[in-house]
Amino acid sequence: MKKLTLICFALLGPYIIDAQTHSHAGTSALVYPDIPGYKTLKTDFHIHSVFSDGNVWPTIRVQEALRENLDAISLTEHLEYQPHKEDIPHPDRNRAYHLAMAEAKEHDLLIVPGSEITRSEPVGHSNAVFISDANKLLHDKPENAFEAANEQKAFVFWNHPAWHRQSPTGNPILSDFQKERIKNGELHGIEVINSVDYAEESLALALEQNLTIMGTSDVHGLIDWDYTEHGKHRPITLVFGKEKSLASIREALFAGRTVAVYNSLMVGRPEYLKPLLKSCMKINSAAYLKDTQVLSVEIENVSSSDLIFENAMSFNFYSNAPIFTIGAGQKKVLQIKTLELLNNATLKLKALGAYTAPKEHPVIEWSVAIEKD
Ligand SMILES: [Zn+2]
Ligand SMILES: [Zn+2]
Repeated sequence: MKKLTLICFALLGPYIIDAQTHSHAGTSALVYPDIPGYKTLKTDFHIHSVFSDGNVWPTIRVQEALRENLDAISLTEHLEYQPHKEDIPHPDRNRAYHLAMAEAKEHDLLIVPGSEITRSEPVGHSNAVFISDANKLLHDKPENAFEAANEQKAFVFWNHPAWHRQSPTGNPILSDFQKERIKNGELHGIEVINSVDYAEESLALALEQNLTIMGTSDVHGLIDWDYTEHGKHRPITLVFGKEKSLASIREALFAGRTVAVYNSLMVGRPEYLKPLLKSCMKINSAAYLKDTQVLSVEIENVSSSDLIFENAMSFNFYSNAPIFTIGAGQKKVLQIKTLELLNNATLKLKALGAYTAPKEHPVIEWSVAIEKD
């Protein structure tokens, strides 16, 4: 049935509906609120298609991104690993990008040109995004590939640094190669979340080396089979841009304004993660239960992440456990024993699903105006 609808859409779409109303967004659409001063843009900058070792045509990647309501994606084909090249010869390494661009052109999805520079350890894999020509990144020596990417003013990040195939301990090893690239200003970010894996050690490296925090799907099969079918969303990087444009995203990546998100897991620097969490939860109402000093507060999670909180106030809860989850898009009532009648209160919660550093959770505060009866 789903397939049939899609076919009808493809055949009739261009004739019966215009570009404005033509939307692929389904029930799996991701939603995150803006933060003060910035637009919150949902991105996935690590994706494969048949133009390297992925299993689908680039157009499918665009349609998947539209279904999840992403703002920007990059198809980052392995430059040096081309298992399908006998069946799909493509002398121009920008081909996947051009096919994705053609598919996305009537939609509000930004396509960022990118490539994966692929070597065994200690060099490992890195993505160069915002490149101008992937062909020019083909070099025998990896340092020359990095140099070429940087000549194109690319944003370059270290992929899956903790991948057990390249580091059997499952911990990232910062090699002399990467140290040199960081010193030269040629490596700008690091994946702390790659597919279903989160490495706290990679977060530690991001903070220590001042690298931008990234989360990506690195999808090779279907998003539907890998994530949606399991009730999950793909990992994404929330980028805080001045506006929704390629230039703004690039500027924000270089400035480190990101939070990596994988469902209820959120990882980022406190200056972006804290305002994000604060915006994700709205206070709908607050009033005392009649003839008591028990304050009843209705909260609402307006994001697509389930949020896990622990009470961080000096006041105890009346009817809730000190640790609770408020599901994506859900409302919940907290009852708080303030011991006396207050005009204003500060709701203070520790976000247990969120990390600003290894083992460190941010504490978020909301001011609550209390209604009089
Ligand atoms: Zn890789
Ligand atoms: Zn990859």
